[in-house]
Amino acid sequence: MKLNKVLENIKIYEAGKPIELVVREFGIASEDVVKLASNENPIGTSPVVKEAIIANADKAHLYPDDSMFELKEALASKYAVGEQNIIIGAGSDQVLEFISRAVLDDNSSVLMSAVTFAMYEIYAKQMGAKIYKTASFEHKYDEFIEAYQMYKPKIIYLCTPNNPTGDATSREEVLKIINAVDEETLIVVDGAYMEYARAKDSKYAIGPNDLLQFSNVIYLGTFSKAYGLGGMRVGYGIAQPTLIGALYKMRPPFNISTLSLAAAIAACRDKTFVEESIVLHQEQLQRYEAFAKENGFAYIESYTNFITYLFTDDMDSTNIADALLKRGVIIRNLASYGLNAIRITVGTAKQNDMFFRHFLEVLDR
Ligand SMILES: *Cc1c(COP(=O)(O)O)cnc(C)c1O
Repeated sequence: MKLNKVLENIKIYEAGKPIELVVREFGIASEDVVKLASNENPIGTSPVVKEAIIANADKAHLYPDDSMFELKEALASKYAVGEQNIIIGAGSDQVLEFISRAVLDDNSSVLMSAVTFAMYEIYAKQMGAKIYKTASFEHKYDEFIEAYQMYKPKIIYLCTPNNPTGDATSREEVLKIINAVDEETLIVVDGAYMEYARAKDSKYAIGPNDLLQFSNVIYLGTFSKAYGLGGMRVGYGIAQPTLIGALYKMRPPFNISTLSLAAAIAACRDKTFVEESIVLHQEQLQRYEAFAKENGFAYIESYTNFITYLFTDDMDSTNIADALLKRGVIIRNLASYGLNAIRITVGTAKQNDMFFRHFLEVLDR
């Protein structure tokens, strides 16, 4: 059997380790395992959403409404856009995949920051496209425009706030990049953590309303993070109808489940849950900042629901991540991104207590 040659170049995406694996491998009781690795909402899922899932359980034998009308209507009202501007995906990941397939081929290239969401690269490589990265993990205008002029990529990814670093790019800077790029290049603005950035500092708030005037820009959002629906797999893209129409050609029918659809509709209407999640998150994030300062390491100012601790050469992120894992603490080692750093999802007060206690022991302090 001969596989597609593009596969030789692709590394399998490494997802955050599940709690079950730590229980199996290290024999730690599941209540002693703390998973702060996948940027899920630590509070869980809104009670209103749980009710909607249960209420729809007896429709599990039915395909969902493939027009996803109610969800689009809820999103259209949230963002003050039209339903024709929206496509729903099984996570915004699936929308990224549609974009890659709709735009790229093996003569094309894409541009992204030095350290950003790993799936951009994987989807682009699946199409045989070349990958270019800027020098910095921050999204810097000069670096993006210089690389854009040199390589004329077909897609530029702007992840703001950025995963796995947690920094954000201001609305002004994003618009400046967009304005310097011609319509031949698609710009993807990935706002997976935008709810957190918007609440922290409005200068980082970017939404479909800032972007819909451009025919070559798409905004991506997800229910997986602030909305607490990582397990339901629902995300969306918002752009001008011509682009949305092109992405629809890549979409399989019924691409999210009946229960996911019901959950996302309820979540979208439930503003209080997200607001409460963000308040709790902001309190807990401060503890991580204080902890870093007390223990003498640097961190990246976070506009997301996670924080990245940066280590100097006397500390090794791989050793630290392994030692934490053996104690039942799952975080993200960023060594594979070329950073001596770890990314920790900010959890509940109790989860964070556990993290700090284990981390101090690992550091032998
Ligand atoms: C989590 C995440 C996504 C998408 O997650 P889905 O669960 O597929 O919606 C997209 N971009 C970034 C940067 C993310 O961190």
